[in-house]
Amino acid sequence: MSAPFVVVGGDAAGLSAASKCRRTDPDRDVVVFEKGQWISYAHCGTPYFVKGQVDRLEDLLSLSPAAVAERGIDLRRGHEVVGVDTDSQTVSVRADGETFEQPYNDLLIATGARAVDDPIEGSSLDRVFTLHGLDHAAAIRAFLTPPEEFAVADLGGGDALAADVVERYGAMSPPERVAVVGAGYVGVEMAEAFDAWDVDVHLFQRSERPVPGFGDAVGDAVIAALDDAGVTTHLGEEVVRLRGGAGAVDTVVCDSGSTLDVDAVLVGIGIRPNVALIEDTPIERGGSGAIATDAFGRTSVDDVYAAGDVAEMPHTVTGEATWDPLGLPANRAGRAIGATVAGDPQPVGSVAGTAMVKAFDLECGRTGILDHDRARAAGFDPVSETITAGSRSGYYPDAAETTVTLVADRATGRLLGGSIAGTDRAAVRIDTVATALGGELTVGELERQDLGYAPPFSPVWDPVLVAAKVLN
Ligand code: FAD
Repeated sequence: MSAPFVVVGGDAAGLSAASKCRRTDPDRDVVVFEKGQWISYAHCGTPYFVKGQVDRLEDLLSLSPAAVAERGIDLRRGHEVVGVDTDSQTVSVRADGETFEQPYNDLLIATGARAVDDPIEGSSLDRVFTLHGLDHAAAIRAFLTPPEEFAVADLGGGDALAADVVERYGAMSPPERVAVVGAGYVGVEMAEAFDAWDVDVHLFQRSERPVPGFGDAVGDAVIAALDDAGVTTHLGEEVVRLRGGAGAVDTVVCDSGSTLDVDAVLVGIGIRPNVALIEDTPIERGGSGAIATDAFGRTSVDDVYAAGDVAEMPHTVTGEATWDPLGLPANRAGRAIGATVAGDPQPVGSVAGTAMVKAFDLECGRTGILDHDRARAAGFDPVSETITAGSRSGYYPDAAETTVTLVADRATGRLLGGSIAGTDRAAVRIDTVATALGGELTVGELERQDLGYAPPFSPVWDPVLVAAKVLN
């Protein structure tokens, strides 16, 4: 009997692979090791759970352990894979204080990423949070809830919840002032979440604009949205240290020397791929530090695959390896690898870094290469235009200004990237640009696409088409 397909990590990439493998080859043995108790959960929904817009933790779960078992997958929660031996094709697994060896025929590393806080001195103080997982989200929401209204059972999650930590925060008085360090998409979403609890929110960002990956025009629109909502932005200020008394944070210290008294801090300054598992193996990492993979998600070692936040993928525009850790590419790569392992080889596709973020009423999107320096480094001669156009016919109620930036190569006209911001269904319009990137369209070709028009949905010239016309 051959060894099973072993999957390390029980979320987006891992369970997509396991499920697809079993669907394609129902006779294939598939074992999934997940070190935590949560499986098949939506990180992306956690800011909205903290905000109170999503009621219970189970609302963020896609598959229950029972549903996974029904798919014929041998799911082992509370099992951490602590070593890989690619010669003997085994993994070492720790569970309940014991370690055992598990042979594999094919192996998928889908260990995701973790939030970074170590560059900031004092980040181990109490009431300094990161948001990477449901336990983090539950602890923050418990802290925000007045103790007299708090009951751990109201959060849901059953046995998977780290209830002791959550109960400790639930017993504390809610914070009056919170610093959010880092204004990437998680920081901006969390500023909105804290604001919903009437907390005085201070958002720190070391660059001059929030969401730097979304470009200047979106950054300016986000600043305005945050100002309108009453969030205090500290732009161009890098938080270097957190100070505290009695073990809990009470002060944020910036590189300029300025300080702010706070009751809690959310650090959202980025993530790192969970690659510790492969450190003593010949499995190669790429330039980003994430695991290098080919078009089928294969690593440099036979029968070992990697997918999701732990892996690089080819970039849609440049074809070069890139690390853009996002939800759809994780699910898509996992699914493709599951099919491949089951005997139906499927490419994992490429990633354009297509992302969306909501800043209160403002919706933003970005895709491809916006940064001119990055475009030049990839051999392009970038040129860009930013326009503002209506989201619907001007006479139709609720039309709103939508700002679109498109970047193209001057010589060939090939579209390289785009961004968008507006209050009326703006973010989803980025998918038009992402699709154009996937098809390697020029700006002229994008301008001639037959997009839909009806007054309640779009003007005759969709804002993306207006931008293409201006840039062409
Ligand atoms: P994960 O979902 O992190 O899963 C990895 C799993 O592996 C974890 O459960 C972990 O416990 C387990 N594991 C790790 N090491 C081991 C080991 N040694 N042994 C066993 N198990 C192990 N993306 C978007 O596209 N849009 C969004 O709006 C968005 N919002 C987000 C908001 C937040 C707050 C966060 C944190 C992320 C967000 N993302 C978003 C990113 C998205 O959630 C990730 O890209 C996606 O979850 C990656 O899936 P994954 O399976 O690679 O990793």
